[in-house]
Amino acid sequence: MSGNTPCDLRLGRVRLTDGSVVDVDIRDGRVAAVTLSGPGPATAAGATEVLDLDGYILLPAPAEPHAHLDKALTADVFVNPTGDLMGAIEVWRSNRPDLTVAEIADRAEAAVRINLAHGITAIRTHIDVSEMVGTTSAEALMAVRDRVGHLIDIQIAGLVSTPSVGDSGRANRRALVDTLELGIDVVGGCPHLEDDPAPSIVAALEDAARFGRPVDLHMDETLDPGVLDLVDLARLVIDSGFEGRVTASHCVSLGVQPAEVQREVAALTAEAGVAVIALPQTNLFLQARGVTVSPARGLTPVDTLREAGVAVAAGADNLQDPFNTMGRGDPLETAALMVMVGHMTPAEAYDSVSNTARTVMGLEPVGYEAGSPAEFLAVRAGSLREAIASAPADRVVVHRGRVVSRTVATVEQPD
Ligand SMILES: [Zn+2]
Repeated sequence: MSGNTPCDLRLGRVRLTDGSVVDVDIRDGRVAAVTLSGPGPATAAGATEVLDLDGYILLPAPAEPHAHLDKALTADVFVNPTGDLMGAIEVWRSNRPDLTVAEIADRAEAAVRINLAHGITAIRTHIDVSEMVGTTSAEALMAVRDRVGHLIDIQIAGLVSTPSVGDSGRANRRALVDTLELGIDVVGGCPHLEDDPAPSIVAALEDAARFGRPVDLHMDETLDPGVLDLVDLARLVIDSGFEGRVTASHCVSLGVQPAEVQREVAALTAEAGVAVIALPQTNLFLQARGVTVSPARGLTPVDTLREAGVAVAAGADNLQDPFNTMGRGDPLETAALMVMVGHMTPAEAYDSVSNTARTVMGLEPVGYEAGSPAEFLAVRAGSLREAIASAPADRVVVHRGRVVSRTVATVEQPD
């Protein structure tokens, strides 16, 4: 295609990851043409809007595959007494009933906008679902989606409380079905917190099949090597013939298995087509509390899983709440952790928070070629490595071919 074809938006003089400097023309939400830039400032050439992005690198837009927007930004109000997972659950559950749909929605929207400013154009949030909280988190996040759905894609996963099976779990399971009927997108759950994990995995797959939804479960979020429900999940997916997408988030305990066990489980996970989401921030925060000698990092064995053919995305998980009091809602922070903790290359790490995350979420990947979805993050940096390391504030975010966020920072220093 010609660079002179009329288009909606031109991203001019922007650097690609291969170092070339190009003009990217966007029309009807997709890339229309990519041409090498000429000398001098970017010009209109029939474009409705032109951005001169000299000094910026253009990246496929990040996606956040695992957030908890109904919990976000509560760290100063609900203080985790122990710093570990059970402490977080305890303080959260004892305060959660007091939260209203309006309060949750306002906080969740603030968190969405933080993510959006950092470049995220699609986000999957897990939300509380239980007899106690009913559909309040679902209603709140659906209201947020109504407010900001033109700026960012939001997927809502029902994280059903335990117990979710048996007589004692009937009311919680009913609440999950209620939220699915309301229109949430993904069946969630937390098998490792159940007395008997396997039946809760079966129930999740059955509900997902009935409603035609994907599954995304919190799996094995513990350093206890005796817990390895990922094996059950993979086998149950294979045996049931479940045809939807299945994602296992966390998979912490796989990281403390012997290498041979890791390889076997990784091969089974690949055979089942189950994707894995690594969540370095919350794992580092919650796991190995009180262990002073050689504390485990809590990260799933990324390399072993990828070598077996498992799609491994990475996410930020909790954002300044009792489960992780830190976090900036910045995919470049997650990518940096995947470099430092997961020992990925910068390109692999960035892919884990962008195109692999998109794929795991069932979204079309993004490329630099004509026809690609126009989902981009432009960052003021000279290379991808520099972008991840420096995480510059200056960013332009493009979603469905439109600029949906722009941040420009000013530095003032005396001579
Ligand atoms: Zn989570």
